[in-house]
Formats: sequence, structure tokens, C-alpha cells
Amino acid sequence: LLQLYGPLNFLGFVYREIKNSLADMEKMFGLMGRNAEVKDREAAQNAALTDAQVQFNQVDFSYDSNRPILHGVSFSIPAGKTVAVVGSSGAGKSTLSRLLYRFYDVNAGAITINGVDVRDMVQSSLRAQIGIVPQDTVLFNDTIYYNIAYGKPDATRDEVIEAAKSAHIYDFIMQLPDGFDTTVGERGLKLSGGEKQRVAIARTVLKNPPILIFDEATSALDSHTEKAIQAELKAISANRTTLVVAHRLSTISDADEILVMREGQIVERGTHRNLLASNGVYAQMWALQLHEEGEQD
Ligand code: ATP
Repeated sequence: LLQLYGPLNFLGFVYREIKNSLADMEKMFGLMGRNAEVKDREAAQNAALTDAQVQFNQVDFSYDSNRPILHGVSFSIPAGKTVAVVGSSGAGKSTLSRLLYRFYDVNAGAITINGVDVRDMVQSSLRAQIGIVPQDTVLFNDTIYYNIAYGKPDATRDEVIEAAKSAHIYDFIMQLPDGFDTTVGERGLKLSGGEKQRVAIARTVLKNPPILIFDEATSALDSHTEKAIQAELKAISANRTTLVVAHRLSTISDADEILVMREGQIVERGTHRNLLASNGVYAQMWALQLHEEGEQD
């Protein structure tokens, strides 16, 4: 029996490792709960995108058939521009990014990139075109090198170093006991929220996608880190088609268009300046946020 114990124990270990890494993947993509499987259509094409124009056309969506989440959502992000989505918690903001990445299929309407329905694209090629900096980056229990290189598995060491530098995490890595070979994640060195976001930015820089989704962290980073990360994101979103899910209005005032969502619908849209001038929901949110920030100071 003792002889059997070793291999069985090892198998248990392997099983746990596999299960944990699947859980990591799910967490990383914000795929908690049930995931409706999406499949490639028979005539699916490879997405070969350089300038990507993203369009949501009368999109309806629900996770559960008895609870509609999005109703008739239409907007477009011209190639290289930035659209930011704001609105109360649960309004459906992050759902937009999950649909664009095609974790789920829409119930009605369509999402197109350069006029091609995302359901007509080979999934792997669609996802290769999109970089996500999620709310809370989950790191793999592996080296920091692996965690960055994940953005481009065939990257050279120089490319990984360059990506780390442009995400301003290189100096931090060089101070770690084993540099790029330091193990991070739940079973290794724990990184702060800002450091994790920088890893996600480095991954994205390495992937170099034409489309970027940035799901802003709900929990505020300290204001110095927040500003630095905003500046890095601004740099990487230049000339990329970008969708920002924002929790703080101050970070998106220069977006090309801001969509205000409430209960799954877009209730206002425009630039920061237009929205303030029209004195509606956005202007109220802005006033409230200024007031709250004033109280914190
Ligand atoms: P927040 O600002 O809090 O991040 P949000 O506007 O991004 O909110 P979503 O994450 O898009 O909101 O969620 C919209 C609604 O869909 C919420 O009511 C949420 O409970 C529900 N929802 C989200 N994910 C799932 C899921 N996997 N299964 C079922 N319902 C879900």
C-alpha cells in the first residue's frame, strides 16, 4: 500500500495543479459562474485586423433567460479611438467587454469588427486581436517571466524585458531575490494591486493587439500608482481601438466618447464636455464624485 501511496499522491498533486490552473484561467478572464459555450461557425474566418472598428448593433443579452441584462445596446468605436463606459454597479458595463471577447454570444443584434460578425471569426484569432487588462489580474503560480510572456508565448527574452520596462515594472522585478525567475501568485510572492496591473499591462504590450479592453479596478489604488498606471494605459491605448470600463470618472474625461449605462441600456452619450453641458445623469455623477473626493482630502 505504501508503494502505491507515492504515485497516487503525485497524481493528486497533478490533478490539483491542473484544477488550479483552470481556475486561474477562469478567474483571469472573469468567467465566474456558468459559461455558455461558444462555438466557431462552420464558415468562420480568421480575423486579420490592423485597424479595427468595433460595433455593437442593437445588442440584447442575458446570462439567464429569465433575467435580461442588456437591451438594444448600440455604439461604435472607430479604429484607434477610445470609448469609455460608466454607470452604476451592475448596469452591464463589464458584460460589454465579455461579449466583445466572445465569452458569450449575444441573444439579439450583433457585434462586428470591421463589419464582420464576431461569431463568424475563428475564436482564437478574435482573441489574439484583443488585449485585456482586467479589474483584478490573477497571476499564475509560476515565475514573473512566465506571467508576462503569457501575452506572447514565443516572445524572446529581450521582448519580455522591453515589455516589463514599458509597463514600468522592470526595476521592481530586478530587486526581487530571483529577478524574473521569482515565483509569484498565490503560492509565491504576492504582488500588490498596482504591481499585478502592471504585469497585465506588460502582457498586453507584448501581445500588441489592435483592440484593448481595460476594466478599471473597482478598489482604488493609491493615487500615485493610479496616476502612473493611467499614464501607462494612455500610452498603450494610443492608436488602438479601446473600450474602457470605468469606475472613476476622472480617469476617462479625455475619452473620445463616454457611454452612460443604467440597467442595461445606454441612457446618455457624448464627450465629457458635452455631457457636463447637458446636465443629466453624467453631470450628477461627476458632481457627486467631486464632492466625495473633496471629502476624502
Ligand atoms: P460593476 O461596476 O459592479 O463592475 P457592471 O456594470 O460591470 O458592474 P456587469 O458585471 O456587467 O456589471 O453585470 C451586469 C449584471 O449581470 C449584474 O446584475 C450581474 O449580477 C449579472 N451577471 C454578471 N455576470 C454574471 C454571470 N456570470 N451569470 C449571471 N449573472 C451575471
